[in-house]
Amino acid sequence: MGLRLYNTMGRTMQDFKPITPGFAGFYGCGPTVYNYAHIGNLRAYVFLDTLDRTLTFLGYDKKHVMNITDIGHLTGDADAGEDKMLKTAQERHESVLEVAKFYTDAFFKDLDGLNIIRPDVVCKATEHVPDMIELIKRIEANGHTYMAGGNLYFDVSTFPDYGKLANINLDDLKAGARIDVDQNKRSPYDFVLWFTKSKFENQALTWDSPWGRGYPGWHIECSAMSMKYLGEHFDIHTGGIDHIPIHHTNEIAQSEGATGHKWVNYWLHNEFLVIAKDKKAAEAGEGAKMSKSSGNFLTLQSLIDKGYNPLDYRFFLLGGHYRKQIYFSYDAMDGAKNARQALVQRVAKIAQSAGGISALNAEKTYKKGEAADCSGLSQKAAEYINEFKVAIENDLSTPVAMSRLQKCVKDQSLEPSEALELIRRMDSVTGLALVKSAAALLKETPVCNGTVAVSHEGDSEAAEIDALVKERTEAKKARDFARADEIRRNLDARGVVVTDTPNGPVWERK
Ligand code: AMP
Ligand code: ZN
Repeated sequence: MGLRLYNTMGRTMQDFKPITPGFAGFYGCGPTVYNYAHIGNLRAYVFLDTLDRTLTFLGYDKKHVMNITDIGHLTGDADAGEDKMLKTAQERHESVLEVAKFYTDAFFKDLDGLNIIRPDVVCKATEHVPDMIELIKRIEANGHTYMAGGNLYFDVSTFPDYGKLANINLDDLKAGARIDVDQNKRSPYDFVLWFTKSKFENQALTWDSPWGRGYPGWHIECSAMSMKYLGEHFDIHTGGIDHIPIHHTNEIAQSEGATGHKWVNYWLHNEFLVIAKDKKAAEAGEGAKMSKSSGNFLTLQSLIDKGYNPLDYRFFLLGGHYRKQIYFSYDAMDGAKNARQALVQRVAKIAQSAGGISALNAEKTYKKGEAADCSGLSQKAAEYINEFKVAIENDLSTPVAMSRLQKCVKDQSLEPSEALELIRRMDSVTGLALVKSAAALLKETPVCNGTVAVSHEGDSEAAEIDALVKERTEAKKARDFARADEIRRNLDARGVVVTDTPNGPVWERK
Protein backbone atom coordinates (compact mmCIF):
# COMPACT_ATOMS: atom_id res chain seq x y z
CA MET A 1 0.00 0.00 0.00
CA GLY A 2 2.76 2.47 0.91
CA LEU A 3 2.63 5.16 3.58
CA ARG A 4 -0.48 7.33 3.59
CA LEU A 5 -0.72 10.44 5.74
CA TYR A 6 -3.50 12.86 6.57
CA ASN A 7 -2.37 16.26 5.33
CA THR A 8 -3.85 19.19 7.22
CA MET A 9 -3.08 21.24 4.11
CA GLY A 10 -6.12 20.26 2.06
CA ARG A 11 -7.57 18.07 4.83
CA THR A 12 -7.19 14.80 2.92
CA MET A 13 -5.46 11.46 3.21
CA GLN A 14 -2.58 11.36 0.74
CA ASP A 15 0.10 8.94 -0.47
CA PHE A 16 3.44 9.98 0.95
CA LYS A 17 5.74 10.90 -1.92
CA PRO A 18 9.11 12.11 -0.65
CA ILE A 19 10.92 14.89 -2.51
CA THR A 20 14.06 12.74 -2.73
CA PRO A 21 13.13 9.09 -3.29
CA GLY A 22 13.87 7.01 -0.20
CA PHE A 23 14.51 9.99 2.07
CA ALA A 24 12.15 11.84 4.41
CA GLY A 25 13.09 15.17 5.99
CA PHE A 26 10.82 16.32 8.78
CA TYR A 27 10.57 19.05 11.38
CA GLY A 28 8.57 19.03 14.60
CA CYS A 29 8.02 22.15 16.67
CA GLY A 30 9.88 21.57 19.92
CA PRO A 31 9.19 22.77 23.44
CA THR A 32 9.33 26.24 24.90
CA VAL A 33 11.64 25.57 27.81
CA TYR A 34 10.19 27.85 30.48
CA ASN A 35 8.59 25.08 32.53
CA TYR A 36 8.31 21.30 32.62
CA ALA A 37 6.62 19.73 29.62
CA HIS A 38 3.17 18.48 30.59
CA ILE A 39 1.94 15.08 29.49
CA GLY A 40 -0.17 16.77 26.77
CA ASN A 41 3.00 18.24 25.24
CA LEU A 42 4.60 14.83 25.52
CA ARG A 43 1.81 13.38 23.41
CA ALA A 44 3.13 15.54 20.56
CA TYR A 45 6.59 13.98 20.92
CA VAL A 46 5.40 10.38 21.20
CA PHE A 47 3.50 11.00 17.95
CA LEU A 48 6.60 12.48 16.34
CA ASP A 49 8.65 9.51 17.54
CA THR A 50 6.11 7.14 16.01
CA LEU A 51 6.57 8.94 12.69
CA ASP A 52 10.36 8.73 13.03
CA ARG A 53 10.30 5.00 13.84
CA THR A 54 7.75 4.27 11.11
CA LEU A 55 9.88 5.93 8.43
CA THR A 56 12.86 3.74 9.39
CA PHE A 57 10.65 0.63 9.53
CA LEU A 58 9.35 1.37 6.05
CA GLY A 59 12.85 1.71 4.64
CA TYR A 60 13.38 5.48 4.48
CA ASP A 61 16.52 7.34 5.33
CA LYS A 62 15.34 10.18 7.51
CA LYS A 63 16.40 13.44 9.08
CA HIS A 64 14.38 14.57 12.07
CA VAL A 65 14.87 18.17 13.18
CA MET A 66 13.49 19.68 16.38
CA ASN A 67 13.92 23.18 17.77
CA ILE A 68 14.18 24.31 21.35
CA THR A 69 12.44 27.63 21.90
CA ASP A 70 14.50 29.60 24.37
CA ILE A 71 13.50 33.10 23.27
CA GLY A 72 10.63 35.00 21.75
CA HIS A 73 7.57 32.93 22.73
CA LEU A 74 5.02 35.17 24.40
CA THR A 75 2.25 33.84 26.62
CA GLY A 76 -0.11 34.53 23.70
CA ASP A 77 0.88 32.93 20.40
CA ALA A 78 0.02 36.13 18.49
CA ASP A 79 2.58 38.54 19.96
CA ALA A 80 0.45 39.25 23.02
CA GLY A 81 1.16 38.84 26.71
CA GLU A 82 4.46 38.35 28.45
CA ASP A 83 7.68 36.67 27.34
CA LYS A 84 7.40 33.13 28.73
CA MET A 85 11.13 32.63 29.26
CA LEU A 86 11.71 36.05 30.85
CA LYS A 87 8.76 35.65 33.17
CA THR A 88 10.11 32.38 34.59
CA ALA A 89 13.66 33.77 34.82
CA GLN A 90 12.40 36.72 36.86
CA GLU A 91 10.33 34.48 39.12
CA ARG A 92 13.31 32.17 39.75
CA HIS A 93 15.91 34.96 39.98
CA GLU A 94 17.91 33.19 37.30
CA SER A 95 19.09 34.08 33.82
CA VAL A 96 17.02 33.10 30.80
CA LEU A 97 19.77 30.72 29.69
CA GLU A 98 19.88 29.02 33.10
CA VAL A 99 16.12 28.50 32.95
CA ALA A 100 16.43 27.17 29.39
CA LYS A 101 19.15 24.70 30.34
CA PHE A 102 17.26 23.41 33.36
CA TYR A 103 14.02 22.75 31.47
CA THR A 104 15.76 21.46 28.33
CA ASP A 105 17.51 18.83 30.46
CA ALA A 106 14.20 17.97 32.14
CA PHE A 107 12.54 17.66 28.72
CA PHE A 108 15.12 15.21 27.42
CA LYS A 109 14.90 13.19 30.62
CA ASP A 110 11.16 12.84 29.92
CA LEU A 111 11.85 11.83 26.33
CA ASP A 112 14.32 9.18 27.50
CA GLY A 113 11.76 7.83 29.98
CA LEU A 114 9.26 7.51 27.15
CA ASN A 115 11.87 5.72 25.00
CA ILE A 116 11.72 8.48 22.39
CA ILE A 117 14.58 8.42 19.88
CA ARG A 118 16.54 11.68 19.91
CA PRO A 119 15.91 13.79 16.81
CA ASP A 120 18.85 13.82 14.39
CA VAL A 121 19.20 17.59 14.89
CA VAL A 122 18.17 19.53 18.00
CA CYS A 123 18.62 23.26 17.49
CA LYS A 124 18.23 26.14 19.92
CA ALA A 125 16.67 29.42 18.86
CA THR A 126 19.29 31.48 20.72
CA GLU A 127 22.04 29.86 18.64
CA HIS A 128 20.37 30.68 15.31
CA VAL A 129 19.50 34.36 15.50
CA PRO A 130 21.84 35.29 12.58
CA ASP A 131 19.96 32.72 10.41
CA MET A 132 16.68 34.34 11.40
CA ILE A 133 18.00 37.82 10.55
CA GLU A 134 19.11 36.61 7.11
CA LEU A 135 15.69 35.12 6.46
CA ILE A 136 13.88 38.28 7.60
CA LYS A 137 16.06 40.29 5.20
CA ARG A 138 14.81 38.12 2.32
CA ILE A 139 11.19 38.54 3.45
CA GLU A 140 11.75 42.30 3.60
CA ALA A 141 13.42 42.38 0.17
CA ASN A 142 10.33 40.65 -1.25
CA GLY A 143 8.11 43.45 0.05
CA HIS A 144 6.25 41.57 2.78
CA THR A 145 7.14 43.78 5.76
CA TYR A 146 6.60 47.18 7.37
CA MET A 147 8.01 48.92 10.44
CA ALA A 148 5.57 50.26 13.02
CA GLY A 149 6.12 51.32 16.60
CA GLY A 150 9.72 50.14 16.41
CA ASN A 151 8.87 46.56 15.40
CA LEU A 152 9.10 44.86 12.02
CA TYR A 153 5.80 43.24 10.98
CA PHE A 154 4.84 40.71 8.32
CA ASP A 155 2.13 42.25 6.13
CA VAL A 156 -0.31 39.42 5.45
CA SER A 157 -2.06 41.39 2.70
CA THR A 158 1.04 40.86 0.52
CA PHE A 159 0.75 37.06 0.74
CA PRO A 160 -2.37 35.92 -1.11
CA ASP A 161 -2.24 32.36 0.27
CA TYR A 162 -2.19 33.54 3.88
CA GLY A 163 -4.29 31.28 6.10
CA LYS A 164 -4.71 28.41 3.62
CA LEU A 165 -3.64 25.82 6.21
CA ALA A 166 -6.29 26.94 8.67
CA ASN A 167 -8.94 27.99 6.13
CA ILE A 168 -8.68 31.57 7.40
CA ASN A 169 -10.56 34.23 5.49
CA LEU A 170 -8.63 37.51 5.77
CA ASP A 171 -11.80 39.53 5.34
CA ASP A 172 -13.06 38.07 8.58
CA LEU A 173 -11.38 40.81 10.60
CA LYS A 174 -13.54 40.15 13.60
CA ALA A 175 -11.97 36.72 14.05
CA GLY A 176 -8.54 38.28 13.65
CA ALA A 177 -9.36 41.05 16.09
CA ARG A 178 -10.06 38.47 18.74
CA ILE A 179 -6.52 37.22 18.31
CA ASP A 180 -4.75 40.51 18.83
CA VAL A 181 -5.18 44.17 19.77
CA ASP A 182 -1.73 45.52 18.84
CA GLN A 183 -2.46 49.06 17.50
CA ASN A 184 0.64 49.04 15.28
CA LYS A 185 -0.73 46.28 13.09
CA ARG A 186 -2.42 47.14 9.81
CA SER A 187 -4.33 43.86 9.95
CA PRO A 188 -4.98 41.88 13.11
CA TYR A 189 -3.41 38.89 11.33
CA ASP A 190 -0.08 40.69 10.82
CA PHE A 191 2.65 39.44 13.12
CA VAL A 192 6.04 40.50 14.43
CA LEU A 193 9.22 39.32 12.75
CA TRP A 194 11.56 41.45 14.85
CA PHE A 195 10.92 43.31 18.08
CA THR A 196 12.98 46.35 18.99
CA LYS A 197 10.55 48.27 21.14
CA SER A 198 10.19 45.53 23.65
CA LYS A 199 7.06 45.41 25.71
CA PHE A 200 9.38 44.39 28.50
CA GLU A 201 11.74 46.84 30.10
CA ASN A 202 14.68 44.54 30.67
CA GLN A 203 14.58 42.09 27.80
CA ALA A 204 17.41 39.81 28.80
CA LEU A 205 18.71 38.73 25.42
CA THR A 206 18.99 41.14 22.47
CA TRP A 207 20.88 41.12 19.20
CA ASP A 208 21.94 43.78 16.68
CA SER A 209 19.96 43.73 13.46
CA PRO A 210 19.21 45.98 10.45
CA TRP A 211 16.00 47.02 12.27
CA GLY A 212 17.74 47.93 15.51
CA ARG A 213 18.83 46.01 18.58
CA GLY A 214 16.17 43.58 19.60
CA TYR A 215 15.00 40.00 19.36
CA PRO A 216 13.05 37.80 16.95
CA GLY A 217 9.34 37.00 16.97
CA TRP A 218 8.51 33.42 17.89
CA HIS A 219 7.45 32.06 14.49
CA ILE A 220 10.60 32.98 12.53
CA GLU A 221 12.81 30.51 14.41
CA CYS A 222 11.01 27.48 12.98
CA SER A 223 11.22 28.81 9.41
CA ALA A 224 14.92 29.65 9.73
CA MET A 225 16.08 26.50 11.50
CA SER A 226 14.01 24.02 9.48
CA MET A 227 15.35 25.49 6.22
CA LYS A 228 18.89 25.53 7.54
CA TYR A 229 18.85 21.80 8.30
CA LEU A 230 16.33 20.46 5.78
CA GLY A 231 16.56 22.84 2.84
CA GLU A 232 14.04 25.31 1.48
CA HIS A 233 11.58 22.60 0.46
CA PHE A 234 11.12 19.56 2.68
CA ASP A 235 8.69 16.74 3.29
CA ILE A 236 6.87 16.88 6.63
CA HIS A 237 6.17 19.38 9.40
CA THR A 238 4.38 18.43 12.61
CA GLY A 239 2.92 19.96 15.76
CA GLY A 240 -0.19 19.97 17.91
CA ILE A 241 -3.45 21.23 16.38
CA ASP A 242 -3.21 24.45 18.41
CA HIS A 243 -0.42 25.50 16.05
CA ILE A 244 -2.56 25.39 12.90
CA PRO A 245 -4.22 28.85 13.00
CA ILE A 246 -1.32 31.04 14.12
CA HIS A 247 2.13 29.51 14.47
CA HIS A 248 2.15 27.24 11.43
CA THR A 249 0.08 29.66 9.35
CA ASN A 250 2.68 32.34 10.04
CA GLU A 251 5.60 29.97 9.47
CA ILE A 252 4.26 29.26 5.96
CA ALA A 253 3.79 32.96 5.15
CA GLN A 254 7.34 33.79 6.26
CA SER A 255 9.04 30.83 4.58
CA GLU A 256 7.24 31.07 1.26
CA GLY A 257 7.38 34.88 1.46
CA ALA A 258 11.18 34.58 1.63
CA THR A 259 11.75 31.88 -1.01
CA GLY A 260 8.82 32.49 -3.34
CA HIS A 261 8.06 28.76 -3.57
CA LYS A 262 6.42 25.91 -1.70
CA TRP A 263 8.02 25.09 1.60
CA VAL A 264 6.49 21.93 3.17
CA ASN A 265 4.59 19.11 1.43
CA TYR A 266 2.79 17.39 4.33
CA TRP A 267 1.43 18.97 7.51
CA LEU A 268 0.66 16.53 10.32
CA HIS A 269 -1.04 17.61 13.54
CA ASN A 270 -1.76 15.69 16.69
CA GLU A 271 -5.00 16.20 18.61
CA PHE A 272 -5.03 17.18 22.25
CA LEU A 273 -4.72 15.24 25.41
CA VAL A 274 -7.81 16.34 27.28
CA ILE A 275 -8.55 16.27 30.95
CA ALA A 276 -12.03 15.99 32.45
CA LYS A 277 -13.07 16.39 36.07
CA ASP A 278 -14.40 12.83 36.26
CA LYS A 279 -15.32 9.83 34.12
CA LYS A 280 -18.89 11.06 33.58
CA ALA A 281 -17.65 14.43 32.37
CA ALA A 282 -15.18 12.71 30.05
CA GLU A 283 -17.93 10.51 28.59
CA ALA A 284 -20.10 13.58 28.06
CA GLY A 285 -17.22 15.19 26.15
CA GLU A 286 -16.74 17.89 28.78
CA GLY A 287 -12.99 17.89 28.84
CA ALA A 288 -10.53 20.74 28.57
CA LYS A 289 -7.20 20.74 26.77
CA MET A 290 -4.39 20.06 29.19
CA SER A 291 -2.43 23.30 29.32
CA LYS A 292 -0.04 25.16 31.52
CA SER A 293 -1.98 28.41 31.31
CA SER A 294 -5.19 26.87 32.68
CA GLY A 295 -3.19 25.14 35.41
CA ASN A 296 -4.76 21.70 34.78
CA PHE A 297 -1.54 20.00 33.86
CA LEU A 298 0.36 16.93 34.96
CA THR A 299 4.02 16.21 34.42
CA LEU A 300 5.52 12.83 33.67
CA GLN A 301 7.22 12.93 37.07
CA SER A 302 3.83 13.26 38.77
CA LEU A 303 2.79 9.99 37.08
CA ILE A 304 6.04 8.34 38.18
CA ASP A 305 5.36 9.56 41.73
CA LYS A 306 2.00 7.81 41.57
CA GLY A 307 3.68 4.50 40.72
CA TYR A 308 3.42 4.48 36.93
CA ASN A 309 6.27 3.72 34.59
CA PRO A 310 6.65 6.35 31.80
CA LEU A 311 6.14 3.46 29.37
CA ASP A 312 2.64 2.96 30.83
CA TYR A 313 1.90 6.45 29.54
CA ARG A 314 3.40 5.62 26.14
CA PHE A 315 1.23 2.47 26.04
CA PHE A 316 -1.83 4.57 26.95
CA LEU A 317 -1.11 7.04 24.11
CA LEU A 318 -0.55 4.32 21.50
CA GLY A 319 -4.05 3.05 22.23
CA GLY A 320 -5.48 6.18 20.57
CA HIS A 321 -4.92 7.46 17.05
CA TYR A 322 -2.85 10.66 17.02
CA ARG A 323 -5.67 12.58 15.28
CA LYS A 324 -8.24 11.72 17.97
CA GLN A 325 -8.61 13.46 21.29
CA ILE A 326 -7.55 11.31 24.23
CA TYR A 327 -9.09 11.74 27.66
CA PHE A 328 -6.65 11.36 30.47
CA SER A 329 -7.83 9.51 33.57
CA TYR A 330 -6.17 7.44 36.25
CA ASP A 331 -8.58 4.60 35.46
CA ALA A 332 -7.29 4.56 31.92
CA MET A 333 -3.72 4.76 33.19
CA ASP A 334 -4.35 1.78 35.48
CA GLY A 335 -5.70 -0.12 32.50
CA ALA A 336 -2.61 0.75 30.48
CA LYS A 337 -0.31 -0.21 33.33
CA ASN A 338 -1.92 -3.65 33.76
CA ALA A 339 -2.08 -4.30 30.03
CA ARG A 340 1.57 -3.35 29.55
CA GLN A 341 2.62 -5.57 32.45
CA ALA A 342 0.66 -8.48 31.02
CA LEU A 343 2.30 -7.90 27.63
CA VAL A 344 5.78 -7.84 29.16
CA GLN A 345 5.01 -11.02 31.10
CA ARG A 346 3.94 -12.76 27.94
CA VAL A 347 7.12 -11.67 26.19
CA ALA A 348 9.13 -13.00 29.15
CA LYS A 349 7.34 -16.32 28.88
CA ILE A 350 8.01 -16.55 25.16
CA ALA A 351 11.66 -15.75 25.87
CA GLN A 352 11.76 -18.55 28.37
CA SER A 353 10.48 -21.02 25.84
CA ALA A 354 13.00 -19.64 23.37
CA GLY A 355 15.91 -20.41 25.65
CA GLY A 356 15.60 -18.15 28.68
CA ILE A 357 17.06 -14.77 29.38
CA SER A 358 19.88 -15.21 26.87
CA ALA A 359 17.22 -15.03 24.15
CA LEU A 360 16.57 -11.44 25.26
CA ASN A 361 20.08 -10.29 25.85
CA ALA A 362 21.15 -9.33 22.39
CA GLU A 363 19.97 -5.73 21.83
CA LYS A 364 18.95 -5.40 18.23
CA THR A 365 18.52 -2.21 16.27
CA TYR A 366 17.12 -2.54 12.82
CA LYS A 367 18.50 -0.65 9.88
CA LYS A 368 16.05 1.08 7.55
CA GLY A 369 13.60 -1.42 6.06
CA GLU A 370 15.15 -4.41 7.81
CA ALA A 371 12.35 -4.98 10.32
CA ALA A 372 9.71 -5.01 7.58
CA ASP A 373 11.68 -7.32 5.29
CA CYS A 374 9.95 -10.70 5.35
CA SER A 375 12.60 -12.72 3.55
CA GLY A 376 13.68 -15.61 5.72
CA LEU A 377 10.50 -15.53 7.82
CA SER A 378 7.91 -18.30 7.90
CA GLN A 379 4.73 -17.59 5.97
CA LYS A 380 2.79 -16.99 9.18
CA ALA A 381 5.41 -14.61 10.56
CA ALA A 382 5.49 -12.72 7.26
CA GLU A 383 1.70 -12.32 7.48
CA TYR A 384 2.05 -10.78 10.93
CA ILE A 385 4.67 -8.31 9.72
CA ASN A 386 2.57 -7.41 6.70
CA GLU A 387 -0.57 -6.87 8.78
CA PHE A 388 1.39 -4.67 11.15
CA LYS A 389 2.85 -2.73 8.24
CA VAL A 390 -0.57 -2.15 6.68
CA ALA A 391 -1.79 -0.72 10.02
CA ILE A 392 1.11 1.66 10.52
CA GLU A 393 1.13 2.72 6.86
CA ASN A 394 -2.46 3.82 7.29
CA ASP A 395 -1.73 7.26 8.76
CA LEU A 396 0.25 5.74 11.64
CA SER A 397 -2.65 3.79 13.09
CA THR A 398 -1.07 2.75 16.38
CA PRO A 399 -4.27 1.26 17.89
CA VAL A 400 -4.50 -1.27 15.04
CA ALA A 401 -0.75 -1.85 15.05
CA MET A 402 -0.89 -2.55 18.80
CA SER A 403 -3.69 -5.08 18.31
CA ARG A 404 -1.53 -6.88 15.71
CA LEU A 405 1.34 -6.97 18.19
CA GLN A 406 -0.93 -8.31 20.94
CA LYS A 407 -2.30 -10.99 18.63
CA CYS A 408 1.19 -12.12 17.72
CA VAL A 409 2.28 -12.27 21.36
CA LYS A 410 -0.71 -14.50 22.21
CA ASP A 411 -0.27 -16.84 19.24
CA GLN A 412 1.06 -20.05 20.75
CA SER A 413 1.41 -21.71 17.36
CA LEU A 414 4.38 -19.48 16.55
CA GLU A 415 7.79 -20.91 17.18
CA PRO A 416 9.05 -18.98 20.27
CA SER A 417 12.28 -17.64 18.78
CA GLU A 418 10.42 -16.44 15.70
CA ALA A 419 7.69 -14.89 17.89
CA LEU A 420 10.43 -13.02 19.72
CA GLU A 421 11.88 -11.79 16.45
CA LEU A 422 8.42 -10.50 15.41
CA ILE A 423 7.98 -8.73 18.74
CA ARG A 424 11.34 -7.01 18.37
CA ARG A 425 10.48 -5.88 14.85
CA MET A 426 7.03 -4.53 15.70
CA ASP A 427 8.35 -2.87 18.83
CA SER A 428 10.93 -1.04 16.74
CA VAL A 429 7.86 1.07 15.82
CA THR A 430 5.79 0.97 19.01
CA GLY A 431 8.85 1.77 21.13
CA LEU A 432 7.64 0.03 24.30
CA ALA A 433 11.07 -1.46 25.06
CA LEU A 434 9.34 -4.84 25.41
CA VAL A 435 12.46 -6.97 25.16
CA LYS A 436 14.36 -4.83 27.64
CA SER A 437 11.40 -4.83 30.05
CA ALA A 438 10.99 -8.60 29.72
CA ALA A 439 14.69 -9.12 30.42
CA ALA A 440 14.40 -6.91 33.50
CA LEU A 441 11.37 -8.90 34.63
CA LEU A 442 13.20 -12.19 34.24
CA LYS A 443 16.10 -10.82 36.24
CA GLU A 444 13.97 -9.25 38.98
CA THR A 445 11.18 -11.76 39.45
CA PRO A 446 11.89 -14.62 41.76
CA VAL A 447 12.41 -17.56 39.48
CA CYS A 448 10.91 -20.77 40.76
CA ASN A 449 13.18 -23.53 39.62
CA GLY A 450 14.03 -21.73 36.45
CA THR A 451 10.42 -20.81 35.63
CA VAL A 452 9.46 -17.14 35.66
CA ALA A 453 6.96 -16.48 38.39
CA VAL A 454 4.38 -14.34 36.65
CA SER A 455 3.62 -11.34 38.84
CA HIS A 456 0.03 -11.21 40.09
CA GLU A 457 0.38 -7.85 41.77
CA GLY A 458 -2.93 -6.00 41.83
CA ASP A 459 -4.98 -9.17 41.22
CA SER A 460 -7.44 -9.28 44.12
CA GLU A 461 -8.07 -13.02 43.63
CA ALA A 462 -4.41 -13.99 43.53
CA ALA A 463 -4.27 -15.66 46.96
CA GLU A 464 -7.39 -17.71 46.27
CA ILE A 465 -6.11 -18.79 42.84
CA ASP A 466 -2.70 -19.69 44.28
CA ALA A 467 -4.47 -21.95 46.80
CA LEU A 468 -6.54 -23.64 44.08
CA VAL A 469 -3.48 -24.20 41.89
CA LYS A 470 -1.70 -25.75 44.86
CA GLU A 471 -4.70 -27.94 45.65
CA ARG A 472 -4.79 -29.09 42.02
CA THR A 473 -1.11 -30.07 42.13
CA GLU A 474 -1.74 -32.08 45.30
CA ALA A 475 -4.85 -33.71 43.81
CA LYS A 476 -2.76 -34.81 40.84
CA LYS A 477 -0.05 -36.19 43.12
CA ALA A 478 -2.75 -38.15 44.97
CA ARG A 479 -4.01 -39.32 41.53
CA ASP A 480 -7.38 -37.64 42.22
CA PHE A 481 -7.73 -36.55 38.59
CA ALA A 482 -11.44 -35.84 38.89
CA ARG A 483 -10.72 -33.17 41.53
CA ALA A 484 -7.75 -31.82 39.55
CA ASP A 485 -9.91 -31.43 36.43
CA GLU A 486 -12.70 -29.84 38.42
CA ILE A 487 -10.25 -27.21 39.73
CA ARG A 488 -8.90 -26.56 36.25
CA ARG A 489 -12.47 -25.98 34.98
CA ASN A 490 -13.17 -23.68 37.91
CA LEU A 491 -10.03 -21.67 37.11
CA ASP A 492 -10.89 -21.63 33.43
CA ALA A 493 -14.30 -20.14 34.24
CA ARG A 494 -12.50 -17.34 36.12
CA GLY A 495 -10.36 -16.59 33.07
CA VAL A 496 -7.25 -18.21 34.53
CA VAL A 497 -4.97 -20.46 32.47
CA VAL A 498 -2.63 -22.87 34.22
CA THR A 499 0.43 -24.06 32.34
CA ASP A 500 2.29 -27.07 33.66
CA THR A 501 5.98 -26.54 33.16
CA PRO A 502 8.73 -29.01 34.05
CA ASN A 503 9.29 -26.85 37.10
CA GLY A 504 5.73 -26.69 38.32
CA PRO A 505 2.50 -24.93 37.36
CA VAL A 506 2.36 -21.24 36.37
CA TRP A 507 -0.94 -19.38 36.09
CA GLU A 508 -1.95 -16.20 34.36
CA ARG A 509 -5.03 -14.32 33.23
CA LYS A 510 -6.22 -15.07 29.71
P1 AMP B 1 4.80 24.23 23.58
O1 AMP B 1 5.95 23.82 24.46
O2 AMP B 1 3.74 24.97 24.30
O3 AMP B 1 5.27 24.97 22.34
O4 AMP B 1 4.10 22.87 23.07
C1 AMP B 1 4.81 21.77 22.61
C2 AMP B 1 3.92 20.89 21.75
O5 AMP B 1 2.85 20.31 22.53
C3 AMP B 1 3.25 21.61 20.60
O6 AMP B 1 3.32 20.80 19.43
C4 AMP B 1 1.80 21.75 21.05
O7 AMP B 1 0.94 21.85 19.96
C5 AMP B 1 1.61 20.47 21.83
N1 AMP B 1 0.52 20.49 22.84
C6 AMP B 1 0.25 21.47 23.72
N2 AMP B 1 -0.79 21.10 24.53
C7 AMP B 1 -1.17 19.85 24.15
C8 AMP B 1 -2.17 18.91 24.60
N3 AMP B 1 -2.98 19.16 25.63
N4 AMP B 1 -2.27 17.72 23.95
C9 AMP B 1 -1.44 17.42 22.92
N5 AMP B 1 -0.47 18.25 22.45
C10 AMP B 1 -0.33 19.45 23.05
ZN1 ZN C 1 7.34 25.91 15.26
